[in-house]
Amino acid sequence: MGKSTLFNRLTRSRRSLVGDEPGMTRDRIYGKASWEGRPYELVDTGGMLPGDAELIPEAIFRQAQTAIKAADAILFVVDGRSVLTSTDRQLAQLLHRTGKPVLLVVNKVDSDRQERLTDEFHELGLREVYGVSSEHGLGFQDLLEALAAHFPPEEAAEVEVAVTPADTGEEAVAAPLPVEVPEVRIAIVGRPNVGKSTLLNQLTGEERSIVSEVPGTTRDAVDALVVRDGRRYRFVDTAGIRRKGKTHLMAEKLSVVMARRHLEEADVALVMIDAGEGIVSSDATIAGYASESGKSVILVVNKWDLARSRGVKRQDFEQAVRDSFKFLAYAPVVFLTAKNGHGVPGLYQEITRVAAERRKRISTAQINRFLATVDFKRAGVPRAQQVRIYYISQVGIGPPCFVLFVDKARDLHFSYQRFLENQLRAAFNFRGTPIVLKTRVSGGKKKK
Ligand code: GDP
Repeated sequence: MGKSTLFNRLTRSRRSLVGDEPGMTRDRIYGKASWEGRPYELVDTGGMLPGDAELIPEAIFRQAQTAIKAADAILFVVDGRSVLTSTDRQLAQLLHRTGKPVLLVVNKVDSDRQERLTDEFHELGLREVYGVSSEHGLGFQDLLEALAAHFPPEEAAEVEVAVTPADTGEEAVAAPLPVEVPEVRIAIVGRPNVGKSTLLNQLTGEERSIVSEVPGTTRDAVDALVVRDGRRYRFVDTAGIRRKGKTHLMAEKLSVVMARRHLEEADVALVMIDAGEGIVSSDATIAGYASESGKSVILVVNKWDLARSRGVKRQDFEQAVRDSFKFLAYAPVVFLTAKNGHGVPGLYQEITRVAAERRKRISTAQINRFLATVDFKRAGVPRAQQVRIYYISQVGIGPPCFVLFVDKARDLHFSYQRFLENQLRAAFNFRGTPIVLKTRVSGGKKKK
């Protein structure tokens, strides 16, 4: 499935492709769409090289030129499952030279691969890279938001967008689905008896939520889908969460294996700790996996009833958690008693917040206004290691990923990393999510 499906996603209509408008040709298709009440017009320049014995970038470009000239923005579509070709590169250059905003749309990408994707496709030199899955309707919210940023001021009646493919356009087969806010996928991880099943029951047993069981991604897995206040939450592998090992050792091992598997499927991990038992070494193992996974993390201190009845103070316990999991400094800590449901609504709020922060996008203008206020002398970097950061651009979400355009090809000193990360968090929050920082030599090629 290629560009046609993407086109349908954007216009939300299959009819636009069938095209009952006069003047439609095989290789140029118009569709009308709107984004937040703002109408815009899409021109699909695709399906343009029937024989495609040789994809000549100039020819593709020429054919699309009329549409490009009329357009306010260009969506350059490449296939996320294939490697970049020289056609892609040359076409990117030609499009870049038009001076129009060019958004690189990497199709056939699921959300997990966003980070790798931006890295790989960034070498095309296009600043705005968006991974989408037309088939699954993922990534469109962000793409459309970014696209809308290039719309001319409100008084202009209609906006035109040209969709230029790097793949040859196949016919659409799937019926279009509405573009949706992505659901939040949640993994509940922690050692045996910490209260995972109990918490899951609370999270899915609430009166004001609608719960359905849906097949999980891996074989035999069953997820629980919860719709709450109009938002969708998917708890991954509920059967796995409830599965218990027969012996203590087996249960312990199983919990670690499950944690790794569940983290892969999730956006947000609830790392559970038993306040009755305190923090033990396998908590640290699981928290370590959660941190390495790049997923957002909420540290959930459960069985707070037991600790409190012994007079433990919340502040003291939180400090112990912070000291044990220094690598998860960005993760909020939530206290609750799963057994009676205390603190569960608050946990839902935290999940929603953390999921939003993970997908937050800061505009290049905003981030560079921020950059101008940062005093890098305070980072305490040795002189020989200092670099100049010309500007910063956010190139990915889930987790947020930033490229720093610098003057020298060298690894960013860890003091810069830490300092800048703290400053970014102070300015833009990013609660619960790791932040990825990369450097690139400005004006030159990507550094190895
Ligand atoms: P799992 O192995 O992590 O799924 O843990 P379970 O959900 O099966 O819970 C293990 C035990 O802890 C059960 O006996 C629960 O009733 C108990 N438990 C769970 N949450 C709480 C809590 O908040 N307070 C107390 N006192 N006990 C809890």
